[in-house]
Amino acid sequence: MGFRAKIGLEVHAQLLTDSKMFCGCSTKFGETANSQCCPVCSGIPGTLPVANRQAVEFVIKTGLALNCRVAERCRFARKNYFYPDMPKNYQISQYEEPLTFDGHIEVAVDDQTVRIGIRRVHLEEDTGKNFHLPDGTSLVEYNRAGVPLMEIVTEPDFGSAEQVRAYLTKLRELLRYLGVSSGNMEEGAMRCEPTVNVVNDETGERTEKVEIKNLASIRGVYEAVKYEIRRQLRAVEEGEPIRQETRRWSEEKHETQVMRSKESAEDYMYFPDPDLVPMAPGADWVAAIRAGLPELPDQWRYRLTSEHRLSAAEADALVATGSASYYQAVVDLGAPPKQASNWVMGPLTSELNARSLPVERSPVAPAGIAELIRLVAEGRITGKIARDVFPRIFQTGKTAAEVVAAEGLEVVGGADELGPIVDQAIADNPRAVEDYRAGKQKAKGALVGAVMRATKGQADPETLNRLIDERLGTG
Ligand code: ZN
Ligand code: MN
Repeated sequence: MGFRAKIGLEVHAQLLTDSKMFCGCSTKFGETANSQCCPVCSGIPGTLPVANRQAVEFVIKTGLALNCRVAERCRFARKNYFYPDMPKNYQISQYEEPLTFDGHIEVAVDDQTVRIGIRRVHLEEDTGKNFHLPDGTSLVEYNRAGVPLMEIVTEPDFGSAEQVRAYLTKLRELLRYLGVSSGNMEEGAMRCEPTVNVVNDETGERTEKVEIKNLASIRGVYEAVKYEIRRQLRAVEEGEPIRQETRRWSEEKHETQVMRSKESAEDYMYFPDPDLVPMAPGADWVAAIRAGLPELPDQWRYRLTSEHRLSAAEADALVATGSASYYQAVVDLGAPPKQASNWVMGPLTSELNARSLPVERSPVAPAGIAELIRLVAEGRITGKIARDVFPRIFQTGKTAAEVVAAEGLEVVGGADELGPIVDQAIADNPRAVEDYRAGKQKAKGALVGAVMRATKGQADPETLNRLIDERLGTG
C-alpha cells in the first residue's frame, strides 16, 4: 500500500439575509461602492454590534440539514488580523464554540457512498474587498464588509477530487433548497478552500497540509485538488519535502503556486468578543426550525424513485434543476408522474431556459401542464398538438382549452370524419398501399403522414391506424 490523498474542505457561504450580520445595512449586491456602510460595519470605535437573528436561524437550519448538533450556548470570537478590507482590524467569527457541530453527509461517486464528517457550521462576517489598480492605487469597498457568512468545515474525509466535487455539488444544492444561500461560486457567494495532504497508513508518513485558495468554481476546485494530489505524490516519490503553506490555483497555468506560509490559529489571537452576548438558542426554537425544514434533495430523490417510480435520471433532473415542487404540483392535479416529468423537463424547461426564467417564475402554472396532459389523455387533442400549442400557452398566458377552442385544434377522431380523409389518402398513394399490403410496415407511415397533413396533425392516431387497416384488410 502506498500513499493516499486526504482532503478537508472549508466552505464560506454568504447568507441570503436582507441586512448585514451586526448592523442594519443592506446586503444588496452590485450597488454603488461604499453606499451600504454605517459606523458599525465600517469599524468606528465605540459602536456596538447586534447579531442578526435570521442569520443565526439560517446556520441552525443548515446545521440540522447536515445532521449537526446545535450548541445550547455559544459565543462569538474576535479573529485578529490587519488588512485594509477589515475595517475593525478583526473579524467577528466563532472559534472554540461554534453554533452547530458534529454532523455528517453522504456523498456518492460511481455507486460508492462515503460519509463525510461535518466538523462545524459556524457564523461570522464577511470582509470588504480590495481593488488594486494598474497605476498602483488601491481602493477598498466596504459594502460586503459585515455581510453574514456561514463557514462549513468538514473532517479530512475526502479521498479524491471526485468526492470533493460531488460534495460541493450536493452542498450547493442543499443550500439552495434551504433558501439560505445562492451558493453561486462565480459571484463569490460560495467560496471553497481545500486542504490537501497525502498519508501512508502503514508507515504513518505524511506530507504537511497545503491549503488552496483562489478557486472560483466547483470545476476549479476539482482541478486544483487533482493537481495538488499529483504534485504531492510526485514529491514523496522523489523524496522532496512538502511545506505547510497556502497555495493559489492559477486558472491560466493550470497549477497551484506558493502564496504564503500558512498562519496558525495562534497568529489570530482569538478571544471571545466582549461586545456580544453569548447565544443560547432555546430547544423550542431549534425544534421549530427543524419542523420547518423543507423536503431536502435526498428525500426528494428517494420519494420520486420509490413512490412515483421515476427513473434515477428523471428524479435527478427534477431535483437538480429545482423543478421538483413544480412537478409535484402537476402530479397533485392528477397527472401521471412519468408524463408530468416529461412535460416539466421537456417543453416547460426549454421555454424557461430560452428566457432564462427560473421555474418559480414560470408564466404557465402547474395547472396549465396538468390540463394539457388531461386533454391528451381524454383524446381531445393529440400529443403533437399539445406540444405545438405549448409555446403559445407559455407566451400568451391563455389556457390550453382556450387555445385549442380558438384555433379549432380538437382531435378529428370520429370514423365518419376521418373515413373520407383516409379513403383519399389511399387513393393518392397507390405505391404505399401496395408496399404495405406486401408486408412493408414502414409504408404505412406514408398513409398516416398524408392524413396527418390533411388534418394539420389533429387526426386521432388510434382511430387512424385502425381505419387504414380496416380499409386495406391488413389489420
Ligand atoms: Zn452597517
Ligand atoms: Mn472563516
